Amino acid sequence: MLFRVIDKPELRSLFDMLAEKNTVVGPVETGKDRNGRPLYAFEEVKDFKILRLDYTTTKLPAKRYFLPFREELATFRMKDDDWTKTIDYNIDKPLVFFGLHACDINALNKLDKVLMGPVYPMPYYAAKRMNMFIIGTGCEPQPFCFCRSMGADTVHHGFDLNITDIGDKYFIEIQSAEAFEMVKDLRTADLSEDDHVQYMKTIAEKNRKFTARVDTTDLTKILDMEFQSPVWKQWGDKCLGCGTCANVCPTCYCYGVEESVDPSLQKAVKTKTLYSCNVVDFAEVAGGHNFRPERSSRLKYRYYHKHRGFVEAYEESLCVGCGRCGEACLAGITVPEVIASVRGEEQ
Ligand code: SF4
Ligand code: SF4
Repeated sequence: MLFRVIDKPELRSLFDMLAEKNTVVGPVETGKDRNGRPLYAFEEVKDFKILRLDYTTTKLPAKRYFLPFREELATFRMKDDDWTKTIDYNIDKPLVFFGLHACDINALNKLDKVLMGPVYPMPYYAAKRMNMFIIGTGCEPQPFCFCRSMGADTVHHGFDLNITDIGDKYFIEIQSAEAFEMVKDLRTADLSEDDHVQYMKTIAEKNRKFTARVDTTDLTKILDMEFQSPVWKQWGDKCLGCGTCANVCPTCYCYGVEESVDPSLQKAVKTKTLYSCNVVDFAEVAGGHNFRPERSSRLKYRYYHKHRGFVEAYEESLCVGCGRCGEACLAGITVPEVIASVRGEEQ
């Protein structure tokens, strides 16, 4: 990793260089909530002026760009007595993410383990992922962020460039060869002693702002021991089974595949749709049997996948602690509260 500093106005030159040949996606303000606070979303950005690198968090993660809610996997056509299958990985141009927080880059790193791993690689995801350039940026911890507990408040790989606001300059970390080539065309400087101090002060200040936390000590063991705990029924009774938590989660990737045949019998399409394990028919199989008809069992399995099964497979949790699911849940179900209750802690 190489470190440089860059004057703030120079960041615009980097944006312009990248926007020339790529689709740039970044945080923009899309409106205000009922308390007058700005709402942010990841959108395609054509003008540097509308980028909001000082954004707090987005309601939805950036996943629709690499793991869209609905995606056509293949189309089939009959011609005479023969048929053809067409596969499109659905990428027009390389994608540049300009301003992802550490939690969202860590989420991508976790998705890579599954969707680009050796067991069930997903070429539709891999094609998009290998055509990405990622610029990370520092963040301002929100009251619901517990990424620090999940080890996702900093990121060590999975990005090309990382920028941190240190006052009148940006501190930049250069990770990839592509980023190195690009930075050569910008006016950057070596770090001064003062830049080092300023960077460390910025990080220390950020760390002081974390308030939410999850105690992950021995969590997989505790989950094993508490599989029959009545707390699952209590949370399940609150849960609406709406699936919003999976929709807003940067690491939820479960999906269903559907094939629909045109009534002419001359064409068909195979579509993938993201799914939520909290939705009533998630575990329903052919013949109509439902392995998890109760909300409590579905909610429990969502937690066991994130904090138990994934840890067993990859030595890390499938939750980055972004807090989006708790913020979006109409029943007020949050990860820190659920885990605390399983541990028998007072709410
Ligand atoms: S936990 Fe909340 S967001 Fe998730 S399915 Fe239940 S009610 Fe919906
Ligand atoms: S489970 Fe909730 S807190 Fe964890 S990564 Fe998903 S949305 Fe974020």
